[in-house]
Amino acid sequence: MDCNEVLEQLADYLDEEARAELCREIEEHLKGCHDCQLEVDTIKKTIVLYQADDRSRRIEVPIHVSRKLEKALADAYREGTGTGPSD
Ligand SMILES: [Zn+2]
Repeated sequence: MDCNEVLEQLADYLDEEARAELCREIEEHLKGCHDCQLEVDTIKKTIVLYQADDRSRRIEVPIHVSRKLEKALADAYREGTGTGPSD
């Protein structure tokens, strides 16, 4: 699993319904990849803040997060949010 694969699957990884196997694969990658650790850390903090504020299942993607990740998250969480990436 490389960085791109990790980023593409972060949305699933951060989903509470993510498969345990996927989490393990990503976490194994994170152990050795500081860049991806930062991405996950930033996103997790953002999600926590957003959920704490609204208690709904929405994700505000940090503007500095890569487009690929932004798209992955937007695709994964579009349903039910009513709030996609600013457009
Ligand atoms: Zn990586």
